[in-house]
Amino acid sequence: MKNIQELQAMLKNGETSAQNLAQESLAGIEKNKDLNAYISILADRAMEKAKASDTRRKEGKLLGALDGIPIAIKDNLCLEGTRTTAASKILEKFVSPYTATAVEKVEAQGAVIVGKTNMDEFAMGSSSESSFFGPVKNPVDEARVPGGSSGGSAVAVACGSVPAALGSDTGGSIRQPAACTGIVGLKPTYGRVSRYGLIAYASSLDQIGPLSTNVQDAAMLLSAICGQDIHDNTTSPRPKEDFTRKIGEGLKGKVVGVPKEYFAAGLDAGCKAAIDALLKKMESEGVLLREVSMPNIRYAVASYYIIATAEASSNLSRFDGVRYTYRSKEAKNLFDLYAMSRSEAFGKEVQRRIMLGSYVLSSGFYDAYYVQAQKVRRLITDDFTKAFENCDVIASPVMPGLPLKQGIQESDPMAMYLSDIYTVSLNLAGLPGISVPCGKSEGLPVNIQWIGKPYAEADLLSIAAAAENLSK
Ligand code: GLN
Repeated sequence: MKNIQELQAMLKNGETSAQNLAQESLAGIEKNKDLNAYISILADRAMEKAKASDTRRKEGKLLGALDGIPIAIKDNLCLEGTRTTAASKILEKFVSPYTATAVEKVEAQGAVIVGKTNMDEFAMGSSSESSFFGPVKNPVDEARVPGGSSGGSAVAVACGSVPAALGSDTGGSIRQPAACTGIVGLKPTYGRVSRYGLIAYASSLDQIGPLSTNVQDAAMLLSAICGQDIHDNTTSPRPKEDFTRKIGEGLKGKVVGVPKEYFAAGLDAGCKAAIDALLKKMESEGVLLREVSMPNIRYAVASYYIIATAEASSNLSRFDGVRYTYRSKEAKNLFDLYAMSRSEAFGKEVQRRIMLGSYVLSSGFYDAYYVQAQKVRRLITDDFTKAFENCDVIASPVMPGLPLKQGIQESDPMAMYLSDIYTVSLNLAGLPGISVPCGKSEGLPVNIQWIGKPYAEADLLSIAAAAENLSK
């Protein structure tokens, strides 16, 4: 399927209709069924919405820039009247009573939601293997994972069933699957997009964002979903922005920070070569590369997995077998009802994290782990603040190597956690970041991650788009 800009033009000049696009999208989903990218397909609803969009177009009453564009959303985003499972057995039959703000905003612009995408259970993972509905396959190389946790959203875009999708990113879940499938993924500044209606994993880290085939489309979607929300008091009161407005500006005079710790031992040589080649091209366009330092980055994964699991253990306590969730048939008393429902319906990875999170929050360990992790979080944020005194954006790998081999979550969860090294620090510091294709290694896609200053997405996207052009 073509990208959003191209589809908008085709809709405008009457070359296609919203109903045609919805049909094309549904056919694409059907054709790629074996990739397991979707948990629910909303065919009837989508056709109805597309029909309404065509009527609006005929009457000259379009709702917004996305009118008639097919979009997929991750299955941890609520959409009223549809099933929202977070890829867990515990929510297998849960039907959302309301719609997430970000989803409401794309629908308010007329976008047509065609389906809800597969993911790691409760967004915990980097491989999209922990879903109750089975793993998502990577169309680029089926022996490798598509990245996670928004693997379904990434594959939905990469295989062309939709031009763009929404995902969520707690520690890299938008940026990593984008890298594994060779598309674009944007994590906004914490507070830029409302989390209302997103099934919480770790509330101080979670952020909803777009996955698309190019930077311009990601910017357009962010412009649609951003803004303050009375339902989420961590959203920023900053006014809505058009994040495409600086795209097309040149690179001349821009200063790119290159953290010395990021490009040292541990980074795959092929990935490094692809990123280095792009940075060199940018230099010849007038970009100044400046070495910066992130001395505390080595503690990022440890700090992240303490904070994320602590928050998860608390957030997931609401799934108790009493209200709106799976309930064990065998339980004879209240304690068993809680314990058995949760044991039977949470997957292994989720249980592992609830245990870890409860442990680091328990009295006696709270100071040693949780409080320490919060202190490290501050140090990492300070590292970024200092680095940004000397540059406009920071260049970084997305992952230390090529997409991981299938089976990684089961065989070596620690290796999976460690592959989050370059992404989790942005969530800890609340910064925006975008993952953009920049080359190949061993025939597989390699993305670069551009990290921006807080709320400076317009500048970040301008540089990312210019760099994207140079990679083509
Ligand atoms: N891989 C990280 C984790 O498992 C990040 C996941 C995410 O961003 N949702 O926690």
